[in-house]
Amino acid sequence: MPAPNIDTIVSLAKRRGFVFPSSEVYGGLGSAWDYGPLGVELCNNVKQAWWRWLVYERDDVEGIDSSIILNRLVWKYSGHEATFNDWLIDCRKCKGRFRADKIVDNKCPSCGASDWTEARPFNTMLQTKLGAVADDDPTALAYLRPETAQGIFINFLNVQTAMRRKLPFGIAQVGKSFRNEVTPGNFILRTREFEQMEMEYFVSPTAEHSKLVDYWVEQYLEWFGSLGIDRENLYLYEVPKEELAHYSKRTVDIMYRYFPEREKPWEELMGIAWRTDFDLSIHSKNKVDEEGKRINPDSTEDLSYFDEPTKQRFYPHVIEPAAGVNRTVLAVLMDAYSEKTNDKGETRVILKLSPQLAPIKAAILPLAKNKPEIVGMAKAIKRSLQPVLRAVYDDTGGIGKLYARQDEIGTPFCITVDHQSLEDEAVTVRNRDTWEQERIKVSELAEHLQKRLKPYPVAPPETI
Ligand code: ATP
Repeated sequence: MPAPNIDTIVSLAKRRGFVFPSSEVYGGLGSAWDYGPLGVELCNNVKQAWWRWLVYERDDVEGIDSSIILNRLVWKYSGHEATFNDWLIDCRKCKGRFRADKIVDNKCPSCGASDWTEARPFNTMLQTKLGAVADDDPTALAYLRPETAQGIFINFLNVQTAMRRKLPFGIAQVGKSFRNEVTPGNFILRTREFEQMEMEYFVSPTAEHSKLVDYWVEQYLEWFGSLGIDRENLYLYEVPKEELAHYSKRTVDIMYRYFPEREKPWEELMGIAWRTDFDLSIHSKNKVDEEGKRINPDSTEDLSYFDEPTKQRFYPHVIEPAAGVNRTVLAVLMDAYSEKTNDKGETRVILKLSPQLAPIKAAILPLAKNKPEIVGMAKAIKRSLQPVLRAVYDDTGGIGKLYARQDEIGTPFCITVDHQSLEDEAVTVRNRDTWEQERIKVSELAEHLQKRLKPYPVAPPETI
């Protein structure tokens, strides 16, 4: 049973230090969120799991970290300046402003009226100015990147040459992106500042591109499974031709059931797109149109690739799995949410996070905080575990309350130090999901926990 709705997660997230509304002391900032002590750990764990899975465990993916602000020409030639638009409509009755493609049954989400203005384009790239320049100096205009992908494309040749790569291979990047969303909302699902995990997988123009899209869809379904997301809560959406982005020949979106309470519960978690050779050729100086004219007179590089076996030079095609960190975190939290009734008939929340994602792996709790020997032993255990796993010491309440708190933040193990521990050098290890307790020797504790903290298995990648 996942969370019944996003609001349940919003309240848990604030209460327990995962996510806070941003700028609250000044009344907040619409749809901006700050990640608290547990939220930052969860985000980092998601990003690390992704990086490990793609860059370390596979042999065909490199990582990079490009600038957020790129030369404006990147966005001119990528097509973003001309086409990265949302279609805006205004409700004539309540003056509300909305994204045209998100209106259901032609009704205004605020007042229910159906009296709309004409739809008009609105470019969603966030602008800034570089240097100490006059306000109206057009040469100072720059954009905060709306996707991490372009930073990868313009570095294709650098990475390929420096790392002596042959096709097929991928380049992965994780980082912030910015979009001036018309209607942000639904907690961390749609914000103006967010984080993406994108990978551009470069292949030959004669590869079976559609099959490769299917391959990456399957790989990501596996990966989301390893994060504890139930396959039942995921749905594949084949984007119809008329909705495809200008660079895409095929896109499959993996949707998550973010709104279980609604008739239409799905929203995009990530997309897997066949971006053709659009991006590499558009940034290349040698590419010409049908009339033999250079399509990019500003570029100083040619991002083509020489294929040794066929002695051919071409612009590689790209399969792009693009996922959001924040939407993954929200899906993980919703799927991990569960409730359990204790012996006293009280309902307890348990966040059944995959151990690899849990912000804290073990909480060390002294049964009596006024006993210096017990406190000393508990703190020493915390320090000894810390080099191998994230552990905390907590004595801020009675043991029942401390257990409940750790369950609610997804800590897989609580370790209790009691009077007996001083005698037998053993502690009680309590399992978050079963509430079962085992007595374990302190000398064997680290190994005992590490064995049980392994991530859910993910199948090894099939070779392409
Ligand atoms: P949507 O249609 O929901 O606006 P999109 O199709 O524009 O999303 P992409 O351009 O495919 O999104 O971006 C890839 C991923 O980046 C998305 O699947 C999502 O996980 C994440 N993402 C995009 N926009 C946002 C946003 N405003 N807030 C949070 N995450 C986002």
